[in-house]
Amino acid sequence: MRDIEKKLEDLEKISSKLEPTEAERARYLSQIKEYSDWFIGSMEERPSYQMGGPEAEKLAFKGGHWTMEEALRVFREEVNHYGINPAGGGHLGYIPGGGIYLSALGDYLADVSNEYAGVYFGGPGAVTMENELINWMKSIFGFPESAVGNLASGGSIANLIALTTARDKYGIKNEKVPKSVIYLSPQVHHCINKAVRIIGLEDAIIRELPLDENWRIIPAALDEQIESDKAAGLNPFLIVASAGTTDTGAVDPLNDIADISEKHQLWYHVDAAYGGFFILCEETKELFTGIERADSLVIDPHKGLFLPYGLGIVLVKDKEVMLQSHHYTANYMQDANDPNLPLTPADVSPELTKHYRGLRLWLPLQVHGLEPFTACLQEKIYLTHYFRSLLEEAGFQTGPSPDLSVSYFWWKTVEGIDQNAFNQRLIKEIHEDGEIFLSSTVLNERFVIRMAILSFRTKKSTIDRCFEMVMRCLEKTKETFELVK
Ligand SMILES: *Cc1c(COP(=O)(O)O)cnc(C)c1O
Repeated sequence: MRDIEKKLEDLEKISSKLEPTEAERARYLSQIKEYSDWFIGSMEERPSYQMGGPEAEKLAFKGGHWTMEEALRVFREEVNHYGINPAGGGHLGYIPGGGIYLSALGDYLADVSNEYAGVYFGGPGAVTMENELINWMKSIFGFPESAVGNLASGGSIANLIALTTARDKYGIKNEKVPKSVIYLSPQVHHCINKAVRIIGLEDAIIRELPLDENWRIIPAALDEQIESDKAAGLNPFLIVASAGTTDTGAVDPLNDIADISEKHQLWYHVDAAYGGFFILCEETKELFTGIERADSLVIDPHKGLFLPYGLGIVLVKDKEVMLQSHHYTANYMQDANDPNLPLTPADVSPELTKHYRGLRLWLPLQVHGLEPFTACLQEKIYLTHYFRSLLEEAGFQTGPSPDLSVSYFWWKTVEGIDQNAFNQRLIKEIHEDGEIFLSSTVLNERFVIRMAILSFRTKKSTIDRCFEMVMRCLEKTKETFELVK
């Protein structure tokens, strides 16, 4: 036999391990299934927050050849064990995600089929599915059919895409940058500031607007600021509003801000990464009036539709400038460059090859329908009010009545006891307890404890358990401050 044939035969023996037999696949899958059944089944028994972190040594790759059992054991002990349990209903900190099961199965199929969702020519089915999901989003938010969009990895990248497009629409570059003005709430998500820097607008002027007692932008103040900036010869070009801020869940007055942006002809961007899907609920949909007037919009299904992490959507009305900002060609792509083909994701995103994210959204929507998602969002609204009422009855101070499902509270201390130090101690006790996870923030120099209720697994019983935990931690904190004997 020729040398090369012998070599290929030897290599194939080794490389074909990458294609397990049907029997091996069945065994792997049953082990994974067993693990996920254990994980979901024991969710309530495990803490929502576990301090500490893994031994890096145990996770390092040193040649492998482990059995699946060994790999899963290390995963359970070193990964699933520490930090927040983001899949659990007891995650009431930051902005919780979810992890609905049919999304996981969608990801499984997306990975097995490895459909190419980067370019229409290569994956017309996958890309059409994604484009149809974008069309569905447009219909929810009142965007015109002519708008375009992209399924990005999350809200941060989705915001980056929108702001890049706004920059290019107004030609903000070179000597124009230091005179250009961006208007936003000091409560805006930090990924907006990050995006501004990444797209080369670090030297632009950022106006943090005054807020009302509900942490919302005051439209009149915005208008005045734009007028005075124009009078000073500056170049206002972008307003960023939030539909659900991270700290307090506030929805800015979207319609009033739309009036102002129209009057001054600025780009109007709405970051609805957290709050967007509350437009589906009777209780909250009015807050979203005017969102349809935005030039660009960001919504995270990995928050408001309870998907596992990895999906944020951007919508942009101006297709031409969106393409101008993101479209590129190369000789090796020439087969795919037919202008008559439907929109290709790579033309509206910094990404080319990407995870086929459509299926993880499409599969659960098609199988469950929309009703359970909407009911779950409504449930979160009522749970937030329920939790606040329990806290108020127990003597806690609470923030203003929430727009959506984020709120905050604090314990008001008697004279002589530093209130911030007390609440700081209280959150430390809560983290050490870990049964339910809450996070904290600072609002107008007041240290407060946040509740962000968005996991599909958070139920009334979770809130009852959370309340008991808070009361137990309050007692401990009082002891530390020697307020009880
Ligand atoms: C979560 C969030 C973001 C960032 O999105 P990621 O998906 O975490 O990248 C941006 N804006 C708001 C309002 C958010 O809640």
